[in-house]
Amino acid sequence: MTPSGFLALYLAFFGFEFLFETILTRLNLRAIDKNKSSVPSAFRDYVDGDMYKTSVAYSLARGRFSIAVSVIGAAVVLAVVLSGSLGVIDNLIAGIKLPPAVEGVLFVAIVAAVFHITSIPPSLYSQFVIEKRFGFSTITAKTYILDEIKSIALSTVLGIPLLLLLFWFIRSAGEYWWFFAFLAVAALQLAITVIYPVLIAPLFNKFSPLEEGNLRTKIEKLARDLNFTASGIFVMDGSRRSRHSNAYFTGFGKAKRIVLYDTLVQQLEERQVLAVLAHEIGHQKLRHILKRLPVSLLLTLLSLFLVDVLLGADPLFAAFGIQRATAHGLLVILAFCSGPFTFLLTPLFTSWSRRHEYQADKFAAESGGYAGDLKRALIKLGKDNKTNLTPHPLYSFFHYSHPALSERVAYLEELESAGG
Ligand SMILES: [Zn+2]
Repeated sequence: MTPSGFLALYLAFFGFEFLFETILTRLNLRAIDKNKSSVPSAFRDYVDGDMYKTSVAYSLARGRFSIAVSVIGAAVVLAVVLSGSLGVIDNLIAGIKLPPAVEGVLFVAIVAAVFHITSIPPSLYSQFVIEKRFGFSTITAKTYILDEIKSIALSTVLGIPLLLLLFWFIRSAGEYWWFFAFLAVAALQLAITVIYPVLIAPLFNKFSPLEEGNLRTKIEKLARDLNFTASGIFVMDGSRRSRHSNAYFTGFGKAKRIVLYDTLVQQLEERQVLAVLAHEIGHQKLRHILKRLPVSLLLTLLSLFLVDVLLGADPLFAAFGIQRATAHGLLVILAFCSGPFTFLLTPLFTSWSRRHEYQADKFAAESGGYAGDLKRALIKLGKDNKTNLTPHPLYSFFHYSHPALSERVAYLEELESAGG
């Protein structure tokens, strides 16, 4: 294929993704607007008119904002690709005569920095304007800046060794470098998952053991009843940034930690917190995370193999304005291509994830009659988070990792009437 052939193919997929996503978001906005006059029947017992009005306004504001962000994002990508800037940066770096691996790290870092900088104004607007207007964001300028510094430091500390390792494999590990690199990357991913709860998460939040008392005793009893071992129950200061709430598990095996957002503990009643935890334990017991592992490993392997196949494809580099075929150039090109060429697979992963959510709900229902409490917890959280109660079915099918609230409530009611 010629450079212009590659470029045309890329632009076609890129344009298709942009159009598709914009139409989907517009459909979603229209569905919210169409239903805005009265509370959807499934929620009439729980949500009053004023509350519904704010949730509609919030969903519309977020949707409109996401369209604006994607227009700006698309303009930046097109400007970078079509202006030949990538080639200019690469030539400048080549002129300094650095060792190839250092050149590679520098190139990737510069491109990543450009995209990161363009993402700062939208992120500021989102956190300091929209989220503040609707009373979610509690973040201060100081926390925001510290978060920025910490995440840049973290990507540097984790990213540079990973890149150096990859470049080393490509250059020195022979014909099957991609397979050996895969083993190394997989081991690294595993290592990061293990160190995440102990070393990385505490950089951003404070985790304090849940204090002795009723809730703690009941959670411990629930874990025992469900034969679930965890090394501790922690409360995380999520309220430092936002009033949105959540609960999750981190770590592996016996080192698993139960993490509750402080906002969750404040917003829910005791039995509702237990219901949310029973659901989370369900994910663990049904091995949902373990089931996703082979897929993510396979994708890593395929990507590395693709790097091997495309390393010699000079016209591809020329299509993106890069004059020499290098591993670092290819990594950046693949980063540009990954969205447009894979976004149609999104519903495959989201519907799989939604199935897991239903299964975990069923687990919670069967493990102690939590269906009703879980339903009330989800409605409470949905209300507090001003969740969109009327997403367009196509939008939620494509993007939602969890079933739409109305679908989930209907399912839980079914389980409830079945005695769960
Ligand atoms: Zn879940």
